[in-house]
Amino acid sequence: MGEMARANRGEASLGARFRGQHHHKPAVGNRPVILRRRALLYICGGNLGQRPQTMSQETRSFQAEVSRLLDIVAHSLYSEKEIFLRELISNASDACDRLRYAALTEPALAEGETDYRVVLTPDKQARTLTVADNGVGMNRDELIENLGTIARSGTAAFMSQLSGDTRKDMSLIGQFGVGFYSAFMVAEKVEVLARKAGETEGWRWASDGKGEFTIEPFENARRGAAIIVHLREGEDEYLDPARLRRIVHTYSDHIGLPIVLKDDGKEETINTASALWTRPRSEITPEQYKEFYHHVGHSFDDPWLSLHNKAEGVLEYTNLLFVPSTKPFDLFDPARKTRVKLYVRRVFITDEDTDLLPAYLRFLRGIVDSEDLPLNISREMLQSNPMVARMRQQLTRRVLTELGKKATEAPEEYAKFWDNFGPVLKEGLYEDSEQREALLGLTRFRSTARDGLVSLDEYVETMRPEQEAIFTITGDNLDVVKRSPQLEGFRARGVEVLLLTDPIDEFWIPAIGKYKEKPFKSATRGGVDLDKITPPEEQPQEKPAPPPKLAGLIAIFKLALGDAVKDVRSSDRLTDSAVCLVADEGDLDMHFERLLKQHRQLDTTAKRILELNPRHKLIERLAASVGEAGASDQIGEFAWLLLDQARIVEGEQLPDPPAFARRLAQLLERGLPHPA
Ligand code: ADP
Ligand code: MG
Repeated sequence: MGEMARANRGEASLGARFRGQHHHKPAVGNRPVILRRRALLYICGGNLGQRPQTMSQETRSFQAEVSRLLDIVAHSLYSEKEIFLRELISNASDACDRLRYAALTEPALAEGETDYRVVLTPDKQARTLTVADNGVGMNRDELIENLGTIARSGTAAFMSQLSGDTRKDMSLIGQFGVGFYSAFMVAEKVEVLARKAGETEGWRWASDGKGEFTIEPFENARRGAAIIVHLREGEDEYLDPARLRRIVHTYSDHIGLPIVLKDDGKEETINTASALWTRPRSEITPEQYKEFYHHVGHSFDDPWLSLHNKAEGVLEYTNLLFVPSTKPFDLFDPARKTRVKLYVRRVFITDEDTDLLPAYLRFLRGIVDSEDLPLNISREMLQSNPMVARMRQQLTRRVLTELGKKATEAPEEYAKFWDNFGPVLKEGLYEDSEQREALLGLTRFRSTARDGLVSLDEYVETMRPEQEAIFTITGDNLDVVKRSPQLEGFRARGVEVLLLTDPIDEFWIPAIGKYKEKPFKSATRGGVDLDKITPPEEQPQEKPAPPPKLAGLIAIFKLALGDAVKDVRSSDRLTDSAVCLVADEGDLDMHFERLLKQHRQLDTTAKRILELNPRHKLIERLAASVGEAGASDQIGEFAWLLLDQARIVEGEQLPDPPAFARRLAQLLERGLPHPA
């Protein structure tokens, strides 16, 4: 993926920083304090150890980022406080999934207890609600790491995006997944009693969510984790079994494990307890799909598209995939990881490097549940498994087909998708030749001729009669690209030019070369033969003849500029501007060259061609002066000024800024009337 990675780097400066962060994990708990432990009795949700042992307790500070996030989460993140329960249940269910998978290869981990479940225990006297699971649990280091820091790659970049504007920040934080901290919306204190599967020591973590937490050993802890939420004044509704039932029904019914309500010693399963994707589509409401998407994708937005299918045939599997409606913040992380979870016969296997989807579909969230793969398949085996390769091919086709339907049936909705994920999807044009046709059909562009998006088919249909190529211009910024002087002649002749602003465009266009026999051609490179194309709705009119001494002018320009340019020539590319720069036919596109230089992939600049607009007043007057006494020197100075000006417009560095400033000042001075 060498070149691909380079393609990405253009957009991945953020991603690069993500990685940096990962290597330098911020220090945690910079001031451990050993306190004498007070004798306290803990409410343990009925299924954990009863008494703490007397041992030292350590007080630590949350990582600074966590403190800040906690504050936002606790006070303003969710409009519905009840969502904290969904988040705790979601974590509990993930923890059970993880142990179930680990126990496939190491059955001893399960300690004979394989009826995974989540137990909710409200305690009216103590005013606590406990969410307990018998999943994988956490040891001391994991409690500190998972609940006290955010060591996830991307934290620093993520935090720097926080604006202080609560509403904007909320959706960002939502994407980041800070589910656990949402308990502080209703809690004045949160305790976690945990024991990791396969280990003997239990631990108690506790915090009031105000900058510090404590951690200490805890005897008799059951395997898994129990989150004890000490409810704040006024939050007693979360002790009411009927209320808890309703919340679970609304947000967590899709969870495949039993969620048990323990009330007055009686136990009752309050969810359907079958994995959502195993139910018939007709029995699943849009709300249930959405809640499942939130759970599986750690997402907050509505799914833009849901794909729930059961494949029966040589391969049997179910997919429930979602296209998000907002951009995940780590979309351009250089690792380009896909996020879909693999299950085998309802058992969660992994969500890492599954090879179930190509990297250019990494925006998808959801699950694939295979009936055929062996349960004990290792992650390494997945990557060379032919069944996985077949599923990947089928899933890719299915996703692209559905996107195609949206593109034709709901172009406005599709435009939103394209704005979010178009740049990612285009990576496929470069690296997946099998899907190239399908992907070309899905690709959309901004252009000089319309406000909305245009497809290649639409472009080709409305080409000018004499037009032979698909014209493109590349740059970093749509508004700037649109105003490039090189586009003037195209506009005048009604020739549409595609505006390309994603770094990946520089890679896929040359790789593909043409569409429906029409070659792609850069509007800023080579001769473009605009002369052949007549403007629409106009008689081909007599063009004013070029100024008679134009050839002489060009000769003086060439002499003055010498090696600074490859050539100087007259051009049809311009209408309003006097000059512009273009790259020679065989050279790199100018924008691409800058991109490569920015990323230190190139340290030379090819010489440009300076094109003159023969019908511009300035060029006409300069041409008229050719042959007059002293004209050559003056034209030479103008040549340099115009070259530097064209460089500025192109966004290039001036090789000699002081010389430019001196020439400009002289010229301005000459233009002023002399004092009397
Ligand atoms: P996320 O679920 O998006 O990772 P959370 O804030 O909800 O973020 O949880 C942070 C981490 O704490 C989880 O990734 C997990 O490692 C750990 N964790 C939370 N709850 C549990 C639990 N019940 N059992 C085991 N680990 C847990
Ligand atoms: Mg979570």
